[in-house]
Amino acid sequence: MTRVRFAPSPTGLLHVGNARIALANYLFARGRGGSFLLRLDDTDRERSKPEFEQAITQDLRWLGLEWTETLRQSDRLDRYAAAAETLKRAGRLYPCFETEEELRAKRAMRLRRHLPPVYDRAMLRLTAEQLASAQAGGKRPYWRFRLSDATLAWDDLVLGRREVKLPAMSDPVMIRADGTPLYTLTSVVDDLDTGITHVIRGEDHVSNTGVQIDILTALGGAAGRIGFGHLPLLVDSDGGKLSKRLEALSLRGLRQDGMEAQAIVAYLARLGTSDDPVPLPLDELAAGFDLGHVSHAAARFDMRQLLGLNRKILHALPFAAVADRLPAGATEAFWLAVRGNLDLLGEARGWWEVVAGTIVPPVIEGEAGFLHIARDLLPEEPWDGEVWTVWTAALRDRTGRKGRALFHPLRLALTGEETGPELRTLLPLMGRARAVQRLAGG
Ligand code: GLU
Repeated sequence: MTRVRFAPSPTGLLHVGNARIALANYLFARGRGGSFLLRLDDTDRERSKPEFEQAITQDLRWLGLEWTETLRQSDRLDRYAAAAETLKRAGRLYPCFETEEELRAKRAMRLRRHLPPVYDRAMLRLTAEQLASAQAGGKRPYWRFRLSDATLAWDDLVLGRREVKLPAMSDPVMIRADGTPLYTLTSVVDDLDTGITHVIRGEDHVSNTGVQIDILTALGGAAGRIGFGHLPLLVDSDGGKLSKRLEALSLRGLRQDGMEAQAIVAYLARLGTSDDPVPLPLDELAAGFDLGHVSHAAARFDMRQLLGLNRKILHALPFAAVADRLPAGATEAFWLAVRGNLDLLGEARGWWEVVAGTIVPPVIEGEAGFLHIARDLLPEEPWDGEVWTVWTAALRDRTGRKGRALFHPLRLALTGEETGPELRTLLPLMGRARAVQRLAGG
């Protein structure tokens, strides 16, 4: 039975990069009839915040990524302490006392001697007396995991055969001096305890995977028990790093801008593959989801493509699907008139101002006379769907204008915009009084 997890730290808002990992896990599990767990990596007490945890669950629900169980690492400190004891007994966790400065100096020295700047394991050679005297002096140790000297290899679900040479790495710190465990350990303990079958995460975790397989076997797990898949990182559409812009690409922000969850999901589900994104329900996306299709190269996150997909989805959405997100009072007729012109639902607000609020029309050089005639010819209410045709025909007859010369000043005066939904539908929505006022220059 496939069991996967999405494991964000509640130290910030989820962005599209996180969402892509969550979605990959969700679709992978769903395609195999497995389960998808949410694990909150909240051992960093200072940076973890309940409001971020809440935002994470909200955002995942918004995307439609339902999970079956929630795990909070802060609830499992006993488990980590027990695992640490096991590792200590096996001689795999050892106490260290060096300060940051000492470690920095050592690294610099090794570099000068053209040695790789890995930790020299000096603390492994500490005698019992030295250890006792350090502790008697009130020093509390932090604990490192003694890596084996293996080269660990696995068949990555995305990247193919991968290996990590452990001797080229420093023994990682697993327990801080204040006793709190670190992610590298807690993640393995949780993955083992919760029967995770596949770990799917970002490529930045590849070397962690080598270390974590080593820890997993030290804790008695079988090395091949968990499958690993690493998704290449996201880059900007011009190939630059996306990491700096990710904050701006939070799911919350996109939702507030009026991006559809379905567009994000459809886009991210195919990102990094050569398959075209299609707005499908999650079960259909899951059926077509294959980690083996994901390119080994970084994936380009292209906002224009996402917007294009969003536009396509919006243009087909019925009023009922958006009614509660439109400005108060917005009607079905309004929605049908404007939906074809939106990239983001949030833009509907501007059009609602055009039909039901006040706008300040721009001064249109040299057109005051024409607009004056237009105002005089505007039919009296009640109006029907033909008012635009009737009005502009009369105006054409009177002024001899046609095409752009006829329509463009009207559009600018009535909407304040160069382009937009058909005036044939907008005009009846805005009503005569509003139109008259705008034709008179506000
Ligand atoms: N909390 C870790 C992160 O957000 C989880 C990584 C993992 O999936 O193991 O990077």
